[in-house]
Amino acid sequence: ASPAEIAARISVCRACPRLVEWRELVAVQKRASFAGQPYWGRPAPALGPVDAPVLIVGLAPAANGANRTGRNFTGDRSGDWLYAALYRAGMATQPTALHAGDGLRLLGVRIVATVRCAPPQNKPTTDEKRTCAPWLDADLAFSAPHVRSIMCLGSIGWDAALGAVRHAGWEVPRPKPKFGHGARAVLRTPDGREVQLVGCYHVSQQNTFTGKLTEDMLDEVLRSL
Ligand code: SF4
Repeated sequence: ASPAEIAARISVCRACPRLVEWRELVAVQKRASFAGQPYWGRPAPALGPVDAPVLIVGLAPAANGANRTGRNFTGDRSGDWLYAALYRAGMATQPTALHAGDGLRLLGVRIVATVRCAPPQNKPTTDEKRTCAPWLDADLAFSAPHVRSIMCLGSIGWDAALGAVRHAGWEVPRPKPKFGHGARAVLRTPDGREVQLVGCYHVSQQNTFTGKLTEDMLDEVLRSL
């Protein structure tokens, strides 16, 4: 299958009953400030060029963010932070991401989520992470020949990325590399290429409002990819 076919298949996946119910309920109830807008209400596929040297692995769409706009990190506070930083790093054509038709393009970076549907309280279950893992495996297969760095937002993205590279037969250091902001590990693809795994605190409001993640910290990680 081509990347476009996989994206199309992901966008109609209904494998997790709890998440299907939630994503569709949010899309009907809508947040008051978005009442006049259409909601996507489906899984969010990968975003960005397949041959990007940087792959960013996030957590999941926000209920009124990507679950509304259909595009990863678009239309929410996490995205405000991430896209502003990507723009500063020369990895996005504009600093804001408001809706799927706003003209934004990613440059040399591709963004995927661990779980492709918005979970209640942003907390997917272990089963849901496991059920969605094959979609990450599929996206990693497209990225694998091109990727130089995998940047993981939060420990859930870190663990999902390690799972996907293991499924793909990559060499992973032992003991298992631990997540942390700025944590690094060198992975090796089956054809012997080195790819760096890099940890970064998630761009969620929980971290950016409290100062746990600052713009400087995010910029420094992006510069190192
Ligand atoms: Fe499908 Fe993943 Fe959404 Fe579950 S979270 S319904 S596996 S796309």
